[in-house]
Amino acid sequence: MKTSFRGEIFDVVIAGGGFVGVTLALALARGGARAALIDSAAAGTGETAPRPIALAEGSRRILEGLDIWRHIGPSATPIRVVHVSDRGRFGFTRIKARDYGVDALGYVSEAGIIGSVLAGALDATAGVAVLRPATVHQLEFSEGRVRVGCAGSEGSHSVDARLLVAADGGKSSVRRLSGIGARQRDWQQSAITSIVKTRLDPGNVAYERFTDSGPVALLPMVQRRSGLVWTLPHERADALMALDEGAFLAMLGKTFGTRLGAFTETGSRTRHRLRSAHSRLSVKQRLALVGNAANHLHPVAGQGLNLGLRDAAVLAEVVIDAVRAGEDPGAITTLGRYAEWRRRDQWATSRFTEGVVRLFGNDLLPLALVRDIGLIGLDSFGFLKRTLARHAMGLAGRGPRLSRGLSL
Ligand SMILES: Cc1cc2nc3c(=O)[nH]c(=O)nc-3n(C[C@H](O)[C@H](O)[C@H](O)COP(=O)(O)OP(=O)(O)OC[C@H]3O[C@@H](n4cnc5c(N)ncnc54)[C@H](O)[C@@H]3O)c2cc1C
Repeated sequence: MKTSFRGEIFDVVIAGGGFVGVTLALALARGGARAALIDSAAAGTGETAPRPIALAEGSRRILEGLDIWRHIGPSATPIRVVHVSDRGRFGFTRIKARDYGVDALGYVSEAGIIGSVLAGALDATAGVAVLRPATVHQLEFSEGRVRVGCAGSEGSHSVDARLLVAADGGKSSVRRLSGIGARQRDWQQSAITSIVKTRLDPGNVAYERFTDSGPVALLPMVQRRSGLVWTLPHERADALMALDEGAFLAMLGKTFGTRLGAFTETGSRTRHRLRSAHSRLSVKQRLALVGNAANHLHPVAGQGLNLGLRDAAVLAEVVIDAVRAGEDPGAITTLGRYAEWRRRDQWATSRFTEGVVRLFGNDLLPLALVRDIGLIGLDSFGFLKRTLARHAMGLAGRGPRLSRGLSL
């Protein structure tokens, strides 16, 4: 690990080494751009609690383009059907991969696996200078470059680059230090995640079941396991976290129903307090925002990381093309291409996610009727369902080269 960058000017410095920041760093290095990455967490301190992550088909293609998918794919479970239903009501719909000519709508992996594969790929990449643990706390924008000040266990450092990328998560310090506002929301909800076992094999079916207390998602995994993401108001989550294993499983069975038989085991449970944040700008001179720093979504539709990976793939392509053409990667004219390309997808994915939370997180009778009609209507209107499915698969709009099997 290199800790002194005095005198060097990188093409890009990335603040934040979560999944999105590391993916961006790998893509930039592959395309020959000189990148530095700063993260406040020490190496090897990623997520350890089991948490399922649904990766859309579009994300699989991006990771395959980076030659990373071969390390994630073998342990990931393909989702061939998504079954959406509303507990105690009549509406439900199924989205099937074969109707869209793909082998799978998405894949279920674990955050720990994705994290360690990305960390391994970063270690094996010579083209990225990594500084960690170091927290970005100061920015100085000037003609032709940005100076990023950070402090870590080995003292203070500064890194110069032509472009700074904020990949530092939903509470982004870079966004704040740059004076960019965000539309923020505390949903007053928690998500409980775990890996559970059921009497029946989920096969390749993902279930999203909307209930009076909030949505329960069960994402298929091997050996009759499913990744659980259960969203509830805080006080219900407190009560569930306090239950012993047997009582928790019984409550889950009562809420989800009997489609997978009885729930027989649960791994450790983790609780996440749910917030969302949408940056008012995605670029300004010498700065671009990606992933949660740009759009931090409610997890109900499992789209946050998928959206962030698309940000990373598009930004890498725009920057690499600029560097090759001898253009300034931090100029607003360059970054405007990224902002314009990503605008529609970011807007649609954020709106869709918020729409689902509002519609399905509300038990008012008129809304309940609307969603029943919606679920049935969706089944009857092929066009609507197709549009929704292509979005959920991350295949809507013009994809970056990485997701089209082309080299960067
Ligand atoms: C319960 C739950 C379930 C989810 N399920 C899914 C799913 O199935 N599919 C999906 O696509 N998405 C899912 N998501 C969303 C997904 O986890 C996130 O969108 C994604 O991990 C965001 O990655 P990121 O790299 O943008 O941000 P983060 O993961 O927040 O990473 C930010 C990084 O920046 C670093 N950092 C922060 N501040 C600084 C600083 N000042 N200086 C330097 N470094 C800094 C942090 O150490 C961290 O490494 C889920 C989220 C939750 C909560």
